[in-house]
Amino acid sequence: MDTAPTREAALARLAAFLPAAGRRYAETRNADDGPLPEGRGNVSQLSPWLHAGVIGAPEVLKAVLGQHSPRGAEKFIAEVFWRIYFKGYLEQRPAIWDDYCKGRNGALAAIERNAGLRTAYGQAVEGRTGIEAFDVWARELVETGYLHNHARMWFASIWIFTLKLDWRLGADVFLRHLMDADAASNTLSWRWVAGLHTKGKHYLARADNIARYTAGRPEGALAAAGLAGDEAEPLTEPQDYARQKLDLPARATAADLAQPFALLLHDEAAHHAPLALPAVPALVIGAGRPDARSPHAIGSHARSFAAGALASGVAEAAAAFACPAVKWRAGEPLAPLLAQAGVERIALPYLPAGWTRDALWPDLAPLVAEGRVVTLLTDLDRATWPLAKAGFFGVAKAIDGLMAECGIAGAAR
Ligand SMILES: Cc1cc2nc3c(=O)[nH]c(=O)nc-3n(C[C@H](O)[C@H](O)[C@H](O)COP(=O)(O)OP(=O)(O)OC[C@H]3O[C@@H](n4cnc5c(N)ncnc54)[C@H](O)[C@@H]3O)c2cc1C
Repeated sequence: MDTAPTREAALARLAAFLPAAGRRYAETRNADDGPLPEGRGNVSQLSPWLHAGVIGAPEVLKAVLGQHSPRGAEKFIAEVFWRIYFKGYLEQRPAIWDDYCKGRNGALAAIERNAGLRTAYGQAVEGRTGIEAFDVWARELVETGYLHNHARMWFASIWIFTLKLDWRLGADVFLRHLMDADAASNTLSWRWVAGLHTKGKHYLARADNIARYTAGRPEGALAAAGLAGDEAEPLTEPQDYARQKLDLPARATAADLAQPFALLLHDEAAHHAPLALPAVPALVIGAGRPDARSPHAIGSHARSFAAGALASGVAEAAAAFACPAVKWRAGEPLAPLLAQAGVERIALPYLPAGWTRDALWPDLAPLVAEGRVVTLLTDLDRATWPLAKAGFFGVAKAIDGLMAECGIAGAAR
């Protein structure tokens, strides 16, 4: 499968997947058929481009509705909304991300101190636990930068309940290796498996379920002997994360960007096309910090996808707007770059809770305070995030209305 970190590759992948986005997806999406060279036919594998903002959820939904009815593609549409839901949920409880980072740092330090833990962690990360299925996925994660959703659920469950390792260490391994690594989807999915997201409701991997849904892999069904049984208890935590009020920007207008401005592209908004910019920038700034996702080194697929997405996005924006482009690394002075280009303002694609915001915000906050930053957010995120208050149901029941409100409709029957 072509995983080039470009918009062209994303659009090609979307076009190739579209015929399968209806009934086929609903009926076959749970099967983990392994990493086939031509790509898995049953799922889109669009997540790396969606995370990097190379392609946007609204255009994916529109394309799907061009070939399928809303009912026919209901399942796929719901999954795309899961991503938006998780973003909105974390945005209203950013302390979950901060606590995850603190907890992860503590757990990494504990590995250094404790030889037994170090051995167990090393075996899990290197795929030497003796649980065939888990070991296959551990290697597949590193070798391909992707795991099927069901494999992620089983992997996280075995990590937490059978291997009894700290969930934050597992979430960190995913963030370091997944090309689609996302602070919201990853942290909240690990918490969901653990029984922390929906309190008291955890996900227990079962060998028969794994064998059933991995039967289509080239090597045959994966075995998973010795998994934790039904007696495994969900994790608990003392904190109760209160929801904080969202403060979302209004839709940016041409008047907001009437003076020369710079468009800042970052690791979660690496391409201008999904941003629907209301005016033409005088400068494009590429501000990548994919290494900020973990104190440990990140995997080669994750690193090259993130770096490549931003490099190609910056080059395509500079060409589209016929303007210069510069690289900026957070921590380096930003004001001289702006002054040199004669720009006063920055158009900043929204920085959701996560490592990109952590890395860039200290430098951008003073400009925000001076009123020099115009934040860009899609209508779909602005409409959906406020509904991500508790469980997914609050979003699920509003999906049709949200798409109509945001002009997402198709010509399909
Ligand atoms: C433990 C765990 C960790 C995860 N970590 C990440 C992560 O870091 N980044 C990430 O993008 N997804 C994550 N997911 C969600 C999901 O596994 C992936 O989004 C999905 O497997 C991507 O493959 P796809 O593009 O073929 O998905 P498809 O099935 O084709 O779905 C289309 C799109 O919908 C979204 N989506 C699908 N399923 C989910 C889901 N369960 N939750 C949120 N969004 C979803 C994705 O953007 C995906 O590209 C995680 C799930 C689990 C259980």
